[in-house]
Amino acid sequence: MDIENETTTPTKKFRSIVDFVCKHVDFSYMASMQILKSRKPLLAGMAYKKDPRRGCRSTESLVRIWLPDQNIPQLYPKISQYVQEVPAIRLNSWEEEWLVVISHEMAHVQDFWNETFQDTEQGRYDAEVAAESFAVKLLGLYRAQQTKKRCRGSKTIDIAV
Ligand SMILES: [Zn+2]
Repeated sequence: MDIENETTTPTKKFRSIVDFVCKHVDFSYMASMQILKSRKPLLAGMAYKKDPRRGCRSTESLVRIWLPDQNIPQLYPKISQYVQEVPAIRLNSWEEEWLVVISHEMAHVQDFWNETFQDTEQGRYDAEVAAESFAVKLLGLYRAQQTKKRCRGSKTIDIAV
């Protein structure tokens, strides 16, 4: 996926997680990504079926990300919950938060082109629940992959009855 990066953070910092997410998403080739500097201390995203810079004739989607300035301290771990239907998750690092935001927005791209949801209030809400569920699932896959790489001890529950 093409990444236009308008921040001072080098694109290589984003690339491997973007590639990881794209591997798990249908129609990722239909989107490009624009990373903008955020004035707020929050990492945020938005997905557009048609790139708003090219108007309604655009045949490409855009995922726009607002990235806080690196001087704004981000504290991890932090607990995140986006919608009531999806359980809260613990984000252990900037990489994990980045992955969740990207996965959420890329799930919207997938749903745009699959025409999964109708443009009604309920449809839009269902799309948010689906996108966040997908992001949590990908976070689990990412952690499993990292664990395989490092094979270090876990700080969370390993065995439960
Ligand atoms: Zn969303």
